[in-house]
Formats: sequence, structure tokens, C-alpha cells
Amino acid sequence: MKLINNEKQKKAKRYFFSKLYFETFASLTAVVLLFLLLTPYAQNLQRNLFSAIELPLILRSIYFAAVFLLMKILTFVFSYFEGFRTEHKFGFSKQTFGKWACDYIKSFFVSLVIGLIAINVFYYLIGISENLWWLWTSVFIFIFTSLLQRLAPVLLIPIFYRLEPVEDDDLKQSLICMAAKAGTKIVEILKIFLGDKTKKPNAAVTGLGKTRRMLLGDTLIENYEPGEIQAVMAHELSHSMRSHIPKLLFIDGFISLVSLYILFRAFPLISRVLQVGQVDIVYSLPAVMLFLGILNFIFKPFALMLSRSFEKQADRDAVELSGMPEKFISVMTSFANDYLSYAAPPKMIKWLYYTHPPVEERILRAQSAPENP
Ligand SMILES: [Zn+2]
Repeated sequence: MKLINNEKQKKAKRYFFSKLYFETFASLTAVVLLFLLLTPYAQNLQRNLFSAIELPLILRSIYFAAVFLLMKILTFVFSYFEGFRTEHKFGFSKQTFGKWACDYIKSFFVSLVIGLIAINVFYYLIGISENLWWLWTSVFIFIFTSLLQRLAPVLLIPIFYRLEPVEDDDLKQSLICMAAKAGTKIVEILKIFLGDKTKKPNAAVTGLGKTRRMLLGDTLIENYEPGEIQAVMAHELSHSMRSHIPKLLFIDGFISLVSLYILFRAFPLISRVLQVGQVDIVYSLPAVMLFLGILNFIFKPFALMLSRSFEKQADRDAVELSGMPEKFISVMTSFANDYLSYAAPPKMIKWLYYTHPPVEERILRAQSAPENP
């Protein structure tokens, strides 16, 4: 059996940390920007700059778009190093800068549209319900993210990736068979062209209900044998069989409910200290974003822990559904050796950043799984 290669793990550690540093710099830059926007000088400047706009809807939209654009400009260099340079340096991407930049701009606009909808609904709800806006906003976030989850396979993914039906009949048959065993109805099995952007393999069962699709990266189909692909898809099927996506949506919904309630209670004090006006004043938006960002950071380890426990369950099912622990282990080993997954990070790193259990844990667990007959 192939084992995790120590030399490659040294490289994996460098890869992990170089990406982490750039991400952290980007977050810190955003925090500094939001703080600067809250200084009295900047507040005056903003009020003067936007004073001609009278309609609240337009003012809020333009103000949010301006802050968001400024943030993207200031953090661009870190995104470039994290998403482009590092990927090239470690040999995972051959994408040209032009194509990468095009994706970057597309994702900017997708986030901007989502942000604009969210921000306007937020202020609308504050306007109609002074004391319960935090509750209605979290209900809205829950419905909106569920809708996005449902629409992503048909609306968002095609913006970034080419999709095509999988042609290999044997593979398709084995996947349909496994899906039936898992009790999951799959609408379509599609090949997603990740290869233009990255060498890394990936797969997913996306969407809810009528939009549920199995997506297999071309990078997965081309570099792994059928048994290995089945083991990966069995893991993905487990997520859908155990309704992990709706469960995560509920957990996120609960976290946003708690966060918004804390914001509701704390904001009168925050606005007094920072002298930026109440929560319904658009110029206090940087304080709202900053505070929610901090709460998100605090709640993240809890959300990650739940995500890792779902992943652990899906790994267990993957071994059972596919009946091939050795294939699952060989995929995991390949993630560590060929795609530099940092297999045994310090506990702190795992708690703060890992959505999945580290590869070493996943392999050890699969090795100790009871053998299938
Ligand atoms: Zn998973």
C-alpha cells in the first residue's frame, strides 16, 4: 500500500502556510479598511461624498458597492498570490493570468449581486421591525442561502465551469447503483471541467431535490481508477443520504441568528463608542461588517467541528457503501502525496481551518474499518 511521503509533506506544509498567510493578510487588510472607514475623518468624508443621493435604496446600494470594491482592490494582491501565484509555484495550475483574472472579476460580480440583495433586505427589515429585525434577517438569510444552495448547480456553477454528461457507461452504472443503495435520487451525472483551472481532483453531489446532480471533476475521472472514483462518490453520496447540506444550512442559520441577536444587543454601545450612528444608518455599515466578521471568527471553530464530524461520517459510509477501504485509502494517500494535502497538522490548525479531518486521520480510520465480506 502507498504511504504518505514525508518529503512531500514538508512541501505540503509550505503550501498550506503560504496560502494561509496570504488569506490572513487579506482578512487583516479588510479589518484595517473597515476600522479606517469608521474614523471621524472618514465618516465626514463619506457623508459629504454621498450627500447628493437622497433615495435610501440607491444610497445603501452605492455605499455598499463602494466599500466592497475598495476592499477588493486593497486585497487583490493577496488574492493574486494566494489563488494564482502559489497555485502555479506548486504546480497545480496552468491557468493564464487573463483567465484567472476573468474568474476573479466574475466572482466579484456574483458576490456583489448577492451582497446587494442581502444589504437591502437587511435595511428594509430594520425599517419595518425595530426590535425583531435580527430574527427576520436570520430567517431571510436561511431562506436565501437554501435557495442559493438549490440554484447553485444550475445558476452559479455554470458561470465558472463547463459541464458535460459523463459518457463512461460502466462508471455511470456503478454510480447509479451506489446511489440507489444510498437511497438517493440523482437527476444527472455530470463531468465538470476543473482541469482548465486546477490539477486537483474534486467531486460533489450538489443541489437539493430537483437540482440534485453528481459532479465529477475531469481531474478525478482522468487520474483515478474506477474503484477509487466509486469510493470518492460514495463519500459524496453519504452527504446527500444523511442530509448533511440541509443540516449545515440549519447550523449556519442558527449561528447567524445568534450573531445577529448579539449585534442587536451590542450595537447601541458600539455606536456610542465609535460615534457612527445607529444600525439603520448606512455609514455604520463598516461597524456592522466588522462586528459580524469578529463573531464569525469566534463561531467558526464550532461550525468547522460539526463539518468535520459530518465528513467523518461520510468517510465511514464511503468505505461501507463502496466496500473498498483500500481504494478510499489510496485516494487519500494520493491527496497527500500528489496534491499536497497537509496530512497531519497541529490540533490548533485543524480546529481553526479544517472543514475535513486531516488525511492521516481519514486513512487511519479507514484502515481500522471492519472488512467487508
Ligand atoms: Zn465530504
